[in-house]
Amino acid sequence: MLSLTTPVADLPGVGPTTASKLRRLGILRAVDVLSHFPIRHEDLRRVTPIAQLRVGQTAVVRGRLQLIQSRRGWRRRRLTITEALLTDHSGTVKIIWFNQPYLATSFRQGDELFAVGKLAVTPYGQQLQSPLIERVGDRQLLAGRILPVYRAAAGLTQRQIRLLMHRVLPLAESLSDWLPEKIRTSERLVRLPTAIHDIHFPPSPQVLARSLERLKFGELLLFSLAILRADQLRTSSQAAPVPFNKEKTAAFVRSLPFTLTNDQRRAAWEILKDLTRKQPMNRLLEGDVGSGKTAVAAVAAHGVASASTQTALLAPTDILARQHYETLKRFFSSSLRIGLLTRTQREAGNQPANSKRSFLKLLADGRIDVVVGTHALLTETVNFHRLALVVVDEQQRFGVEQRHALQLKGANGLVPHLLSMTATPIPRTLALSLYGDLTLSFLRQLPPGRQPIATAAVAPPAADRVWQHVRDRAAADEQTYVVCPLIEESDELGVAAATTEYERLRTGPLVNLTIGMLHGKLPAKEKTAVLQQFAAGSLDVLVATPVVEVGVDVPNATTMVILGAERFGLAQLHQLRGRVGRSAKPSSCFLLTESDDSEVRDRLAIVERTTDGFALAEEDLRRRGPGDLYGIRQSGLPAFRLATLTDLPLMKRAHAAAKSLLEQDPDLSKNTVLQRKVDSLYRTLHRE
Ligand code: ADP
Ligand code: MG
Repeated sequence: MLSLTTPVADLPGVGPTTASKLRRLGILRAVDVLSHFPIRHEDLRRVTPIAQLRVGQTAVVRGRLQLIQSRRGWRRRRLTITEALLTDHSGTVKIIWFNQPYLATSFRQGDELFAVGKLAVTPYGQQLQSPLIERVGDRQLLAGRILPVYRAAAGLTQRQIRLLMHRVLPLAESLSDWLPEKIRTSERLVRLPTAIHDIHFPPSPQVLARSLERLKFGELLLFSLAILRADQLRTSSQAAPVPFNKEKTAAFVRSLPFTLTNDQRRAAWEILKDLTRKQPMNRLLEGDVGSGKTAVAAVAAHGVASASTQTALLAPTDILARQHYETLKRFFSSSLRIGLLTRTQREAGNQPANSKRSFLKLLADGRIDVVVGTHALLTETVNFHRLALVVVDEQQRFGVEQRHALQLKGANGLVPHLLSMTATPIPRTLALSLYGDLTLSFLRQLPPGRQPIATAAVAPPAADRVWQHVRDRAAADEQTYVVCPLIEESDELGVAAATTEYERLRTGPLVNLTIGMLHGKLPAKEKTAVLQQFAAGSLDVLVATPVVEVGVDVPNATTMVILGAERFGLAQLHQLRGRVGRSAKPSSCFLLTESDDSEVRDRLAIVERTTDGFALAEEDLRRRGPGDLYGIRQSGLPAFRLATLTDLPLMKRAHAAAKSLLEQDPDLSKNTVLQRKVDSLYRTLHRE
């Protein structure tokens, strides 16, 4: 008897080789087979007349074989080529397969077939290349169905996975549904067994949609429950009220090298007011690139210090932490004591702290007012004297840092107030679901005197003009970023991409300029050194991987050259462009692309004419769809396999359902199955 817990090796049709391949995909038991969800579906219900086949599109054709034969390749003798002609009422198409000689013996002239494949252009004319075929009337596994397409790693074929799925599918009936029945009916969701059955072999797109709705809802509900439970911790705790000194803080604002914009003033005030409360603040500051979020955080930190309490500022990278440290030192001159702590850097005031231990002691004794750092700040050995405020800048992995930050100890076991800052426009619904209950502040205006960044998409023939521009700017003592895309997956840190481009520019078009290079593999020390040289103006050009995307602030840089621009999303291009245009000088951004794809041209044209990051983000969302914009794919939130954070309406429903569930049963003790699932998700979120 098969059951959900039957090991894959005991399933019919699974030999030892297949079993070990399955295990490599993490599929150990029958139930794991069922939860190996398709990555997409192919709708093979519609038959396309041969005359209407379009190059590059997967289609189903139905026709009679006029001819089928195999032969050896002419030049490559080891290759077998099988060729066929298939005819329907509208025309004839040539078919070609490689190394599948048995096809010529299992099918013969006159057979009526379905063929599923793509039309390709070859030197020998248009051909259907390596289509899957089956006889009309046989047990049809392809044509007439909506076919699941699986992540087929480990050498497994789609056909193998589909057949296996077919066999274990009846077991779906015995899955027990963990979703409380009351929620399931009030949300009008299908049962779990139905949903699992239909996600694999849906009879129609409508049924598939219902299945996805159910499964995504489940994921989002669990996620919301985990977040809300973390938020219970915050709301049931108290924070230390910060009685900041109004006069001193006002004097600090006057001492800044610029006048705050009205938005900055309002945001800073909202934050300071929150800080005086016992209830822990949970506020998100949203402002486009270059809107001056750092200055707002500085005002808040100053207020905190004026009450003899401490601030921790958390940055996503070493580079950014170092930069914030330098900026704050400038802002505060000698009035506050600033510290820097990353995995590799440690400084207090201007002195590199002798040892980690002595640094931690300064922090624990309250002799550092503001500490800037990376994740290194979140380790257990870090203790504060009176931590009152945690600022999380440009967080990429939503909500996760925030929850970690809450575990930082405030004074006497009080939790710190929390301020998150982002340039990504996050809709309120999403923000609530990611961070728990929170309030929002916005910086809608840019500091005065900024000039719009002239943006142009450029094809290679005109690239010379771009490099001429870079040389001209260098002659005027202004600086340039050149950003290279990560082309190969194996080049995750961008070493190859950056090095190649660096060499090409250094010996070619920019031969007389001083050029630096920044990629992910450089030791932290060198990264910092290169960036410092660039910030100090001793480099004309910085060739970098997209690491400069977030936060880097060098106002004297006025040109941004983005290579392979088609590889970036709109929001990301905007972030990169935001590295220039940070002073009153005119700036330019060049989007180099070799692509003549009309879709790409359209996209780049939008960046050319739109300077509003929020508008661009919306457009990106519309075009690229879920996942990409919020960097969720990179962040790899383990909670989602199907849902994405951009499924907003569904997220809203799940969030509301989670809330009402917790109102009736705050610790889920009446629903232990659910409780166990939420707990395990909660632990995963924290392990990141
Ligand atoms: P972001 O919001 O992208 O983090 P930053 O905080 O890095 O922006 O600020 C961008 C630049 O604008 C910095 O060089 C900063 O010193 C400058 N800046 C911030 N506020 C103002 C202002 N009110 N007037 C003029 N320049 C400002
Ligand atoms: Mg910033």
